[in-house]
Amino acid sequence: MTDRCPSLPTVPTDPERELENEVLRGRMERIGEKLLVLSGKGGVGKSTVAANLAVALARAGKRVGLLDIDIHGPSIPKLLGVEHHQPDVTDGELRPIRVNDRLVVMSIGFLLPDGNTPVIWRGPRKFGAIRQFLKDVAWGELDYLVVDSPPGTGDEPLAIAELVGQPARAVVVTTPQDVAVADVRRCIGFCRSLRLPVAGIIENMSGFVCPGCGQSFDLFKRGGGRRLADEARVPFLGAIPIDPQVVLGGDAGRPVAFGALDSPAAQAFASIVQTLSDLPAAIAPADDRSDPPVEMDFMKIAIPLENGHLSTHFGHCEEFAVYEIDPATQTARAKAVHRAPPHEPGLLPRWLHELGANVIITGGMGQRAQQLFAQNGIRVVLGAPPDPADDVVAAYLKGTLQTGANPCDH
Ligand code: ADP
Repeated sequence: MTDRCPSLPTVPTDPERELENEVLRGRMERIGEKLLVLSGKGGVGKSTVAANLAVALARAGKRVGLLDIDIHGPSIPKLLGVEHHQPDVTDGELRPIRVNDRLVVMSIGFLLPDGNTPVIWRGPRKFGAIRQFLKDVAWGELDYLVVDSPPGTGDEPLAIAELVGQPARAVVVTTPQDVAVADVRRCIGFCRSLRLPVAGIIENMSGFVCPGCGQSFDLFKRGGGRRLADEARVPFLGAIPIDPQVVLGGDAGRPVAFGALDSPAAQAFASIVQTLSDLPAAIAPADDRSDPPVEMDFMKIAIPLENGHLSTHFGHCEEFAVYEIDPATQTARAKAVHRAPPHEPGLLPRWLHELGANVIITGGMGQRAQQLFAQNGIRVVLGAPPDPADDVVAAYLKGTLQTGANPCDH
């Protein structure tokens, strides 16, 4: 096997970029832990949770930065009442806005054109903007950086997960309804494919406590978040009730977690922060992507096929085998062979996601394709040999699959 795709040109290393990466690494190393607040879809209260989590952590005595990278709809400045501020620039560094002694805030929204002009950027441009932005903010020493990124598994969460370095964990926000389940699964698959540990799931808008009679009503059902956490074997961090104080606090630019702990939501945030700090520290996952993800309960493995063997050119093969794995025995219980769709950029990851695959084992793959698989919640295992597909799957599940270098690592 060659070390690179022979058809690809050599990419020159860019010394300026190397220097930028070093600055970024240096900044991120001064931060105790990064908490990436994610959600499967919009409207579940992700930004509200990110803002309140940051406030509650600061209240618990931690030094906290809150970062908003929602290019299309930054809401953190409004939620913290700093939307009319402009960060100072000193010596080319952006100073985050100080909310109090222990909490500073920065939003990519401060750097964008006025709020009425939509930003239309493609993936690589967004990645570059987030990278530059992260590198330029003078966070200083922090215990936590809480990041609010747009919902789903698009370019922004992908960029931030790749850029912040270790230790970092995802906090996944959902609502109790069953319809949210598929989105959250995808979100957890996304984290796993990026080897980003999941700190846990928060169920927001979980029941309503009547301020008059104190009785509790399950307006949007209850318990979906905990069930999901059990299913995905990740911690359940807590439930936040529907609380009018949350909306009032958001509109006033003063998150409910600032106030007295007599509000049900403020109590819930304080208890989530306690649960979070009681968790063992995030363990930086190993770089080797070939170990089997035994923690996955629902696993479907896709293998690009050529005459029944694994094809090392996944983008050009005509068939894919998809194996359904029995979680109890960790063996394949069903196998289906599908004709690949026409060769179109971005289509294969989507198609395999629709077939339910959450792992692909292949020979080589370029970085952009890996990103697209990650965005579709599919973990990529690279450098596999062109052996019979059944043997590759069996070896992967046993943890004995021998993988080499990614021949397309450019
Ligand atoms: P997202 O970031 O997921 O799109 P937001 O944080 O913007 O969602 O919240 C959407 C709306 O729901 C906001 O008006 C917010 O005030 C409200 N909201 C969020 N959580 C709660 C809650 N626990 N109780 C009442 N309203 C809430």
